[in-house]
Amino acid sequence: MNFPQLRNIQLRSRKLRDQLIASPYAWPGGYPMFAITRDGAALCHQCCANEHKSIGFTYGADGWAIEALDVNWEDSSLHCDHCSDRIESAYADSGECS
Ligand SMILES: [Zn+2]
Repeated sequence: MNFPQLRNIQLRSRKLRDQLIASPYAWPGGYPMFAITRDGAALCHQCCANEHKSIGFTYGADGWAIEALDVNWEDSSLHCDHCSDRIESAYADSGECS
């Protein structure tokens, strides 16, 4: 991988990481967001905060390059691939109205 490519990957990872940390829930609606890495793993917003350096200085194939953010609509068995915590879903978690 050449330098400009890697640079772009790092910039995108940082941007998406910061976006997820700043707003882990999509607005409007409050839907839970998570990050998807280049190798297809899921990362929770907590890991994005804890591992912000690994993500910011990813070399692309180390599992820390964030490719996209997504809303977890209804996958009640989605877990973060780093800390193994369950990632909340928008519709599978019900009955918690306050
Ligand atoms: Zn996590």
